[in-house]
Amino acid sequence: MVESYTVVVPCFNEAENIIPLFDRIRAQLTDASILFVDDGSSDKSLELIKELAEKDKRVFYLSFTRNFGLDAAFASGFKYCASDWIIQMDADLQSPPEEIPKLISKANEGYDIVFAKRLNRQDSFLKKAGSKVQHFLARTAFRINFPVGASTFRIVRRDVAHRVISRPTAYPYFLAECMRLGLRHSFIDYKHAPRHAGVSKFTFWKSLRATMKLFIGHSTVPLNFFALSLIISIPLLFWIPGSFTVPAILLLMLTGFWIQAGYIRRLVREQMFHRAFLVRESNLNIQAEDRLYDN
Ligand code: UDP
Ligand code: MG
Repeated sequence: MVESYTVVVPCFNEAENIIPLFDRIRAQLTDASILFVDDGSSDKSLELIKELAEKDKRVFYLSFTRNFGLDAAFASGFKYCASDWIIQMDADLQSPPEEIPKLISKANEGYDIVFAKRLNRQDSFLKKAGSKVQHFLARTAFRINFPVGASTFRIVRRDVAHRVISRPTAYPYFLAECMRLGLRHSFIDYKHAPRHAGVSKFTFWKSLRATMKLFIGHSTVPLNFFALSLIISIPLLFWIPGSFTVPAILLLMLTGFWIQAGYIRRLVREQMFHRAFLVRESNLNIQAEDRLYDN
C-alpha cells in the first residue's frame, strides 16, 4: 500500500516565506498535499497561497476569520486532512523540509508520532531559557509527561492526530496530550535554522499563555498548592509574630487564589466563550459549524 502524506503549515503573516517553503517541500515530496492554514494574516500570505493552489491541485488552504493562535491553526489543519500521515511544520523554514524523509522513514519503523528535535536551537536566549524552564517545571513540579526537546516539526498518523485533538472544548496542549494518550513515539535530530524572513509571531504573552495552558490543562498540582497555602498560612498568621511574616503569608495566599482563579477562568472560557476557530475561506469542504458563510 502506498502511504499518503499532507504537510500542514500554520501561517500568520508569513508572506516572504510561503513560496520558498512551497518549493522546498515540493522538492522533497512531489505527490504530497500541502495544507496551509492562514491564521488571520493581514499581509499577502493568503493571496500567495491561493495563487499556489491555482497552479498546484494538491495545495489546499483554510483561512481563519481572525488570529486564533497556533494550536487552533494546526488542529484545524489536522481535522481536514484525509491522508494517512500528517507532517506539521512552521512556515518560517526554521525546520528544513529536507529533513522530512528522515521523519517519514522513522515513522515507518512503527510509530504513531515522530518528533524532530532541534540540535542547535536558533532562537533568542530568552526563548530558549523560557522553554527549558517550562519543560523542567512541567516534568518535575507538575508531573506532566512531556517529550523532552520535541518541537512543532513532527509527523503523526492522521487517525492518531484526530484522536489527540478530539476533546470537545479547548484543544489540549498537544505534546502533553500525546503522552497522556500513550502514543508510540520516537525522535529524530535535525539542524535548526534561523528564521528565513520576518519576525517571530510568539510574543512574550502568547508564550506565557501557552505555558499556563500546559500547566493548568494537564496538572492539578497547582490546585494542591492552593489548598496547602491556605492550610499553612491561616494558622501561621496567628502564631508567628514579626513584620515580615504577614506580607509573606499574604503573598502565599494571593498566589494560591491566583492559581485557583486560573482553573476557574479556564473552565468558564471553555464553557461560555469557546470557539476554537472559524473559517472565512477555503478550497476544502468545511463543515457548517466551522465556517462563517453558508457557501
Ligand atoms: N503561527 C500561527 N499563529 C500564531 C502564531 C504563529 O499560525 O498566532 C505560526 C507562524 O506563522 C509559524 C509557526 O506558527 O509558521 C511558528 O511561529 P514562529 O516561527 O513565529 O514561532 P517561533 O519559532 O519564534 O517560536
Ligand atoms: Mg519560528
